[in-house]
Amino acid sequence: MQQWMTGDERLVRIGPGTGDGAEEMLGCPARDAAEARPGIRVRVPSRLPHEHLETLTLGPVCEALDLIEFEGESLERALDALLERPRPLHPGHLAYAEHAVRLYAGRPDLYGLIPVKPYWVVRKDNGRRWELYASWRRYESADGSVREYRRLRHACARASKPGEIAIAAYAAAFGSSAAWPRRWPREFALRASPSRVTHVRIVETGLADGSRNVQFEGTVDEVRAYYDAFGDAHVRSAVKGGPERPGPFCVDCKQFTGCGAVRRSPGALALPSRKLPLRKVSVGDLRYHALCPAQGFLRSLHLPQSDEYSGAAKLGRAVRGWIEALHRRDGRPARRRTCPLPGRTGRAAGGGCPTRRPNWAAGCSSTTWTPARSSMPLSSSESSPSRSVSSTTPPLRPLSLPSPICSTARTVPGCGGS
Ligand code: SF4
Repeated sequence: MQQWMTGDERLVRIGPGTGDGAEEMLGCPARDAAEARPGIRVRVPSRLPHEHLETLTLGPVCEALDLIEFEGESLERALDALLERPRPLHPGHLAYAEHAVRLYAGRPDLYGLIPVKPYWVVRKDNGRRWELYASWRRYESADGSVREYRRLRHACARASKPGEIAIAAYAAAFGSSAAWPRRWPREFALRASPSRVTHVRIVETGLADGSRNVQFEGTVDEVRAYYDAFGDAHVRSAVKGGPERPGPFCVDCKQFTGCGAVRRSPGALALPSRKLPLRKVSVGDLRYHALCPAQGFLRSLHLPQSDEYSGAAKLGRAVRGWIEALHRRDGRPARRRTCPLPGRTGRAAGGGCPTRRPNWAAGCSSTTWTPARSSMPLSSSESSPSRSVSSTTPPLRPLSLPSPICSTARTVPGCGGS
């Protein structure tokens, strides 16, 4: 444990969102390892204020769905409740949440599954206490033989990483029902429930277009094999940790106030010295903010967009990705003489291309997954287990006057300014 952290490391909790440590190109292995240990905390907590507006994009959507599925509220009443939250939503965010809830709740279930409120948690002890869970939405058949996790995506259904799918599938197949911990450092309150599960399904659902993508479907034996192939390596990588890699995740990392790897540059943005919520900011964020503060905010929520990247932006991402891959190639800064153009190879370049094959369409951030050797820590008796500058930015102006750029922004329908 780093000297800026304190607490109890014995509880290890892994979900699909914990991160996958060193495997993630722009991730931070040190952050993932700390996230996997809910009992540790930073010695000096942040005293910066929270944002006035809700910044958790899907939080309100899930709140409304919970009211409908578990409290028996009508759709309209559940949507009305979003207006009464202590932490208000930006009008654009509210419009998106309403669209998403209507789309999701209005669709009949293909298999007649029923919503499940308790979480599914696998717990193992092998010197440490391990908890494996997923907080995605849960459904099961009336006889409990089929369990389904649904991962909600902001826009359209995508593809989860195999390790994430494996963790969720394992929790569905072998997990006991459990209430959410009263405090995060505490353990899940498991209820003894003999498993009747025979089949598991992992599905992604797009909240903008209603798309649905089945990521995994199989028996519990197939779940076990899938976990051995993909889940074990993912869990080990997250728990093992590694060096700090400052990046976009710093802003919500629990180590942020103490982490020595984050460069502090007071006054870099020439902001007033009063305390403001912590935000991450990129050149693109500032550009959108300059065009329209509301658009900048809604983009920061990653709301679906139909024109997310212009041709120039795509080219810029590809070039940045290429340069990044070259710098990462052998741990030394790349130089002009050793930088081949894409597609060319040469002796000076030592083979001519980065060790990871760039994917231009994805800004060079996509790499081929190679499953590691399996030795699942959860079933074994052996105990084991990206970068940007974060800063504060000017306070949001939540509502903006409509401007000509609104016709090209298309961030969400129902923006409060247009
Ligand atoms: S603050 Fe940033 S660099 Fe430090 S551990 Fe967290 S994510 Fe990693």
